[in-house]
Amino acid sequence: MDYLRRTWAEIDLDRIVHNHRIIRQRLTPGCRTMAVVKADAYGHGDGYVSRALQQDGADWFAVSNINEAVSLRRQGVVRPVLILGYTPPEMAGLLVEQSLTQTVYSGEYARALSKESAARKLTVDCHIKIDTGMSRIGFFAQQGHAAQAANEIARVCALPGLSCTGAFTHFSCADEYSADSRAFTHRQFEVFMETLGLLKQAGVEFELRHCCNSAATLAYPEYHLDMVRPGVVLYGLSPSPECAGMAALLPAMSLYTTVTMVKTLDQHAAVSYGRRYVTPKGGRRIASIAIGYADGYRRNFTNKGRVIIRGQYAPITGAVCMDQLMVDVNAIDGVQSGDVVTLVGENGGAAITLDDFAALNGTINYEECCLIGRRVPRVYMQGGREIAAVDYVIAAVGEQTVRPL
Ligand SMILES: *Cc1c(COP(=O)(O)O)cnc(C)c1O
Repeated sequence: MDYLRRTWAEIDLDRIVHNHRIIRQRLTPGCRTMAVVKADAYGHGDGYVSRALQQDGADWFAVSNINEAVSLRRQGVVRPVLILGYTPPEMAGLLVEQSLTQTVYSGEYARALSKESAARKLTVDCHIKIDTGMSRIGFFAQQGHAAQAANEIARVCALPGLSCTGAFTHFSCADEYSADSRAFTHRQFEVFMETLGLLKQAGVEFELRHCCNSAATLAYPEYHLDMVRPGVVLYGLSPSPECAGMAALLPAMSLYTTVTMVKTLDQHAAVSYGRRYVTPKGGRRIASIAIGYADGYRRNFTNKGRVIIRGQYAPITGAVCMDQLMVDVNAIDGVQSGDVVTLVGENGGAAITLDDFAALNGTINYEECCLIGRRVPRVYMQGGREIAAVDYVIAAVGEQTVRPL
């Protein structure tokens, strides 16, 4: 698999399983896990990650849309899959054919889906989404509207062509622990339970009630109910700096590239586009490496990020290009083309995390892992050994014969 070794992300499946077990240990017996593997398992690759989790006993999977759900089915996921977002109602047939569960979040959407489903004499399995404070999709139950929401949900549950087996809500600040944030999360939970209570009085009950994302799974065990929906923690990342240390998570993704050329520059040499770095007095040894913003390595790292070569940090010099960038290796002995460069991960006692990326970019680790590009092959490790690699660029073309134009 040497051809892959320009730039690659290594995904440690043992670490994903470790993180999954850490979460499951905290659940009361009978509480299920729904592994959130949307966005290609947060950039880690949905197939190998989901199969590892399925093998380790994950009960359910969650994705954002029907394309991601079909991708899981094609890659051997046989457990229930919940689509968290919108699916065009006319795809009711595919939902049933693929045994997928669809989120139903409004009366309008429920009626549209019911119409398509009933017309084909099908039944779509659904989970009801309740808006308890996020103000995103969901039956509007916050701000004193629980009774109204319960009424509307009861009507939806009686529609033909739908089978409503679950109900859920989503917290907006379960990863923040000021008194105010805690009170808000508590209020969201109360609104959820109040709505479910009213539905129960009306004779509508759900087998699976769930509300905990990663942060709530860690911080609010009393809210676990029938199932929890961890995402980011499975990948060994903390939902927020405030959650750091709540569990012994192990980050699963490392990112590597290769030194392609080393040159010694005299003073006053301008490096990269815009001449935004100029070598100081005495000159510098500068290495070119084979990663750029088209790989998801942010241009914002220009003159401020760093990488690890031979166990030492090398600062980025000048602008990050589309496919390459340059680093200062003046202080590192023996750097030569072919050396492995660690962009995320550990090497000889030095370490860089996706949290470091997030801090530099003024964002969250979630965004950083999702942005690792499809041009970067994912290499899977298990038992300390490379077991597989996925190259999206080649896979997208496959063995198909291309029609001449
Ligand atoms: C993404 C998502 C999750 C998982 O969130 P994490 O913070 O990654 O655990 C859970 N539920 C819903 C509805 C989501 O959209």
